[in-house]
Amino acid sequence: MNYNGINFDTYLKNYPDDNGYFGKYGGSYIPENLQAAMQEITEAYFTICKSSKFVNELRRIRREFQGRPTPISYLERLSGSLGNVQIYVKREDLNHTGAHKLNHCMGEALLAKYMGKKKVIAETGAGQHGVALATAAAYFGLECDIYMGSVDIKKQAPNVARMKILGANVVEVTHGLATLKEAVDSAFEAYAKDYKDCIYCIGSVVGPHPFPMMVRDFQSVVGIEAREQFIELTGELPDAVVACVGGGSNAMGMFSGFLNDPVNIYGVEPLGRGEKLGDHAASLKYGTEGIMHGFNSIMLKDKNGEPAPVYSVASGLDYPSSGPEHAFLHDAGRVKYDVVNDEETIDAFFKLSRLEGIIPAIESSHAVAYAMKLAKEMNKGSILVNLSGRGDKDMDYIIENYGIR
Ligand SMILES: *Cc1c(COP(=O)(O)O)cnc(C)c1O
Repeated sequence: MNYNGINFDTYLKNYPDDNGYFGKYGGSYIPENLQAAMQEITEAYFTICKSSKFVNELRRIRREFQGRPTPISYLERLSGSLGNVQIYVKREDLNHTGAHKLNHCMGEALLAKYMGKKKVIAETGAGQHGVALATAAAYFGLECDIYMGSVDIKKQAPNVARMKILGANVVEVTHGLATLKEAVDSAFEAYAKDYKDCIYCIGSVVGPHPFPMMVRDFQSVVGIEAREQFIELTGELPDAVVACVGGGSNAMGMFSGFLNDPVNIYGVEPLGRGEKLGDHAASLKYGTEGIMHGFNSIMLKDKNGEPAPVYSVASGLDYPSSGPEHAFLHDAGRVKYDVVNDEETIDAFFKLSRLEGIIPAIESSHAVAYAMKLAKEMNKGSILVNLSGRGDKDMDYIIENYGIR
């Protein structure tokens, strides 16, 4: 399929290019001493991860440890409450640890093992990436250092406990505002000193090349499974595919399966409390081109051109940029990026719980909320939503802030 001059028949092979660019987005904007480390990972990715030995081992792990393939469920009661459109969800909430993040963490940690590394290293904000990586490290017998701001350590006590129980070393970062940004800086600093023995595991389709490509490829299992399963269930392709976008890994995994199909694709960003800078994290909708965290993309900037403060009810979506591939697909018009606010999200959270017996993560509830709006507009056809995770982690927050509806 050709779309705006892009050949999607060969898209996944041709994007990114050898330097990690999706059009003008992506690349690797990092200090000289880290370029060698990224080069080593890139080369290892193309030799090791494409070998049949690696592919077969990852397949076995996905089946026997992660519980893949995850099913697709038809949402009969939710669909019925909205009209004539059929809504389906890809159940990444049933993946081990309760979200899609383990898909790329198992891939990254298996690569670390094949490369002979002893340790995996990462930062975490809300703790979800830290828990997924700590799980992978325990499985493969790797050491695991997770950098986390002291403010986040206090806020995310259950995830900190999980990481420690799994044997990870949670490194407290106290400088500056002591949140995610400082944790990223400290983790990169530690990595630069120690990269012979460890590998940095980025938690989404962001960061310098090769991570946006590598994380997409590890997540593409979601889209590959979903496309096959949907056709088997219904005999045809969905009319629309929907996923929430923070950094954009669950969305890229799902979208990659449908880019070459006549399917409308929607990425959903958090509008939070409203359109004012600082009240949302809808970087693709309101942002401009810029470089941060080692890559060129579309981002939200403050007056000084620095990453702007962002807000979302979903802590997994409050990132001031999105992966470079999303910026590319945005400009190309192949994916439509739109927003839902906190209120619509919380409504969808309760609707899915009450009508279907599925408690979704607040992140995933953004995608459900958008599908509910889309269903009313479409009048007929089908929508496939990537349900990126389960909502157990959000129980206390919901009860405290919204009560029982
Ligand atoms: C972390 C997280 C997200 C956001 O990350 P992406 O890279 O945008 O997918 C979405 N859903 C859940 C459940 C998460 O834990």
